[in-house]
Order: sequence, then structure tokens, then C-alpha cells
Amino acid sequence: RKGWLDKLKAGLRKTGSGIATVFTGTQIDDALYEELETALLMADTGVKATEHLLADLKKRVKDSKTTDPAAVKGLLADAIADLLAPLQKPLVIGEHKPTVIMVAGVNGAGKTTSIGKLTRHLANEGATVLLAAADTFRAAAREQLAIWADRNTVEIITQQGGDPAAVSFDAVTAGKARGRDVVLVDTAGRLPTQLHLMEELRKIKRVVQKADATAPHEVLLVIDGNTGQNALMQVKAFDDALALTGLIITKLDGTAKGGVICAIAREKPVPIYFIGVGEKLEDLETFDAREFAQALLA
Ligand code: GDP
Repeated sequence: RKGWLDKLKAGLRKTGSGIATVFTGTQIDDALYEELETALLMADTGVKATEHLLADLKKRVKDSKTTDPAAVKGLLADAIADLLAPLQKPLVIGEHKPTVIMVAGVNGAGKTTSIGKLTRHLANEGATVLLAAADTFRAAAREQLAIWADRNTVEIITQQGGDPAAVSFDAVTAGKARGRDVVLVDTAGRLPTQLHLMEELRKIKRVVQKADATAPHEVLLVIDGNTGQNALMQVKAFDDALALTGLIITKLDGTAKGGVICAIAREKPVPIYFIGVGEKLEDLETFDAREFAQALLA
């Protein structure tokens, strides 16, 4: 498990969240807090979360009576971990059979890759998985998903040029009939037509519900950790349309600055089920608030 944390730290360090360097001085003064404010904003933390963290930190510093800037770093780690704690929640399957998980995300976010990784993760936990290729618009999307299905040796329901909602309906019905534990529904991230993406996704959700009144049990959004404040806007938009139950944040091994997770925690606290730290099947990790806070300050 240790390897991923190093990847995450290395990724966050690449562009440098720059937050750690704030604490190398000798005094705790206004200049330190100003520098910290800038560093947090530069790391995509956003105005609201930055304000919250600074206020919380000042209180912690006062309570601790410390005069050592290095100790302030530890207190900031605590403040960030507390802010992120509500986002730390496991994806639970098994309450429903099949557990229907709808996965959304704009093209390029890492949705298909994440579905591949998630399939492996679920299989490792002993679950049987059925994939639904509901992005019927792009041939490449179907082919990509089929490759991940192959790698995991799981079945895939697909229908060239078919209706995305119909494919989803078929997949849930097949999942039930075949007694699968999980049905993962891959949706489009962009449409080639004037059709509104959110409309399409809402339709898939409605039709899935017709196949199983309790489904979908999870609606996940995959977001690219490199997209900064834009990631927060995506969370808000998809949550408005679909009522998200969880997030997967990808590419945290890359040049992501990571602070956007604090912004999400403050402004749209949807649980982070997993983070992506690479392109391979095993590069998916559960989110740990404290470890993430420490990586952010490494
Ligand atoms: P989709 O369009 O959202 O389905 O995106 P893809 O799954 O095709 O991924 C887009 C690109 O991002 C591919 O080159 C993936 O290998 C890459 N990718 C996805 N997740 C990660 C990750 O966690 N880390 C890194 N470094 N690359 C990733």
C-alpha cells in the first residue's frame, strides 16, 4: 500500500503544492499566513476552503500556544484532515444484487480507465461484475471498454449505435438474470449531437430505475485532478443533474495540485470513493483524508 502514497506525493510535488515551503521561516506572523493563503489558492484550494482553513488554523495555533512555524505545518495537516474527513467513505456493495453503479464524467477525465480499475478492485473483493457500454455514440468508447472487460475477463453488454438507456436497461436486466453482484454502467462524456448530455444521463438513470426500482445504487463522477477549480464546477453540475453519491479523482500521480479536494469538501462534499494514481489496473486507491492531507503538505 505504501507505493501509492509515494506516487501521490511525487505527483503533488511535481508542480509542488508549494504549501510546505511556507513553514521554513522562523516566525509565525502575518507574512506566514499571507504566504500560506497564496500557496493554498495556487494549489486550487479555492477562496472558500482557503478562508476556512486559515481561520481554523489560526485558532489551532492560538490554542496550542506554539511559536514554531514547523509546528504550524502539523496543525494545518490536522485542519485539512478534519476538513476532508467527511469525504472519506467506502463504496459498499452487497446490499443490492446487483448493485448498479452508473459512472459519468467528461471525456478525457479517465472514466473508462477508472471503470477498468474499479472492475479489478471489485473482482479482488470477490464480486462478479457486468459492464454496460452505454456510451453508444463513440465506437472508440465501446472498444476501449471492451478491452478493459477483456483484461478483467468480465462480460460486457454493448449494442452498436443503440440507445444508451436501452443498453443500460438490458445490462441491469441481464445482471439480475445472471446473478451478478455489480453492474457498472459506462456513460458518454460528450455527445456528437445537439442532444444535451445531462438530459441523456438523466434518461439513463430513469430507465435503469425501470429495470430495478432501487437502482442506480450509486452514481459516480470521475474527475481529472489536474483540472483545478473546473473539477469543482463539474461536481456541482453533475450533482445537480444526477444526485451524485461518490467521486473518483484521477491523475493524482501527475501534475495535479490537489487542493481542489479541499474545495470540494467545503463547497460540494460528495464522498471520494477512490483516487487514481496511474494508468495501470492496480493504480486505484481508496481515499484517506489524513494521508491525503499529509501528501498535500509533503
Ligand atoms: P475517458 O475519456 O474519461 O474515458 O478517459 P480515459 O479512461 O480514456 O483516460 C484518458 C487518459 O488518461 C488515458 O491516457 C489514461 O491512461 C489516462 N489516465 C486515466 N486515469 C489516470 C490516472 O489516474 N493517472 C494517470 N497518470 N493517467 C490516467
